[in-house]
Amino acid sequence: MDVRRCSRCLYTEHHPLGIHLDDDWLCSGCRVHEEKDQLDWAQREQKLTDILNQYKNRNGNNYDCIIPVNGARDSFFIVHTVKHKLGMNPLLVTYNAQYNTDRGIRNLALLRTVFDCDIFTLTVSPHTIKTLTRATLRRLGSLYWHVLAGQTVFPVQVAVRLKIPLIIWGAHQGIDQVGMYSHLDEVEMTRRYRKEHDLMGLEAEDLISDDDQIFEKDIYQFMYPDSHDLANVGVRGIYLNNYLRWDTKQQHENMLDLYHYETADQQRTFDRYNDVDSFVYSDLHDYIKTLKWGYGKITDHVNREIRLKRLTREQGMHLVQTYENKPVGQLDAFLAWLGTTKNSLNFMLDQHRHPDIWQRDENWNWFKQQTIIEPPSHLIERQRLAASEYCEFELTASKRPDYQEQRYVLLAKGWPS
Ligand SMILES: [Zn+2]
Repeated sequence: MDVRRCSRCLYTEHHPLGIHLDDDWLCSGCRVHEEKDQLDWAQREQKLTDILNQYKNRNGNNYDCIIPVNGARDSFFIVHTVKHKLGMNPLLVTYNAQYNTDRGIRNLALLRTVFDCDIFTLTVSPHTIKTLTRATLRRLGSLYWHVLAGQTVFPVQVAVRLKIPLIIWGAHQGIDQVGMYSHLDEVEMTRRYRKEHDLMGLEAEDLISDDDQIFEKDIYQFMYPDSHDLANVGVRGIYLNNYLRWDTKQQHENMLDLYHYETADQQRTFDRYNDVDSFVYSDLHDYIKTLKWGYGKITDHVNREIRLKRLTREQGMHLVQTYENKPVGQLDAFLAWLGTTKNSLNFMLDQHRHPDIWQRDENWNWFKQQTIIEPPSHLIERQRLAASEYCEFELTASKRPDYQEQRYVLLAKGWPS
């Protein structure tokens, strides 16, 4: 399959969220990203303040809003902004992804402590999680389905249960990566987007199966509340990146100065800030992404920094070559956790390799057969952004340097060695 590459970033037309190139071969993601330097962000922030004011609980008998958090990503920035800058009283909710690093658990404990917010945590039975993960690996080639499903639905369930209508999310990937919407569309959370993109088309109910031994009791924690209940409470989810100029690297650096949480080297990317709470995200999960889509998270991170003028296209290409073929670091730990073998896992994953990208040679080894058409050089020069900042991700010292990050840690369940 021949695909064209963007004249500014390194995305091709082949992207899970959908991307298109214009006459200059500039992709929709790069085009919408230009809004970050064009919009009046003071005015956008005022709009956010106006929305939040409608949800402030004047009686003091309930929370003002819900913020989904975990031990990484933009959690510190979001809670800091909503609580300290915008004066809201949030309830934090967290879905235990169970692929936790020791560091991620410490970061989440620090977040609970420094912001002094109430927090709801959902830890689904590890046995159920393993059953679901076996099924989603087989059906979708995904070990991350339960995390995506849990993270996107637990806050909504809590909103309905506690009658807190407003949920505040960070960045909407459809806007930030591929320009599916303009910031001005002010797109909000929907069940449909969750199903189609976060859950790869498979909702919890679709997993019920005698063959997999999955019954309703195993999946109700992942089911979306019904529309009648949502309407009764008036639940809505807004994304902060529609109202604040989103720059995750800068945001992290500001928050690291204030709260001193831990960053870490990652196996398959240079980004030391995002996803340091997970054993699998920048590891086996990312490797699987390359089987399905032909590229890994390193390309997402490089493109983000090219658009924010911290990397040139050429530096980005070099980083992709450096990281994309790095081996999976935590494979044995994952296989031990799931109770399977490397051969069984590979057999399942091979079913999900994209047939336009991967083929077997005569020795039955896989090779990449996708042809990427690079843009004409005059278009690259026309769309080039000058990199004006140094792209370095700060590495903090571990607060527990003697601990070896070799094992899955199941928060609230201990480690049954
Ligand atoms: Zn682009």
